[in-house]
Amino acid sequence: MSPDRESEPGRLEEGRPYITCRELLDFLHLYMDGELPADRRHEFDRHLGVCEPCRRYIREYRRTVAMGKSAFEPSDEPAEAPEELIAAILRARRG
Ligand SMILES: [Zn+2]
Repeated sequence: MSPDRESEPGRLEEGRPYITCRELLDFLHLYMDGELPADRRHEFDRHLGVCEPCRRYIREYRRTVAMGKSAFEPSDEPAEAPEELIAAILRARRG
């Protein structure tokens, strides 16, 4: 209906590279807190759309957080993914 469609977002994204699993994990805590800027969040969702290991990881992460909240156990573990896990995800991606 409207003729001015040049500013339609998303049209130039087809060829853009996806963020890496590493980048995704770097911003995971912001994503979980809902504090990720909209453009970054969009990159997240794009990556998750093509990366099953990261989808699985986030599912597990959410479950862990939910359990942690109900149990209220103190933990000195950082929220960030350990190197080992990142390596595992990257290995899984490569097949
Ligand atoms: Zn990934």
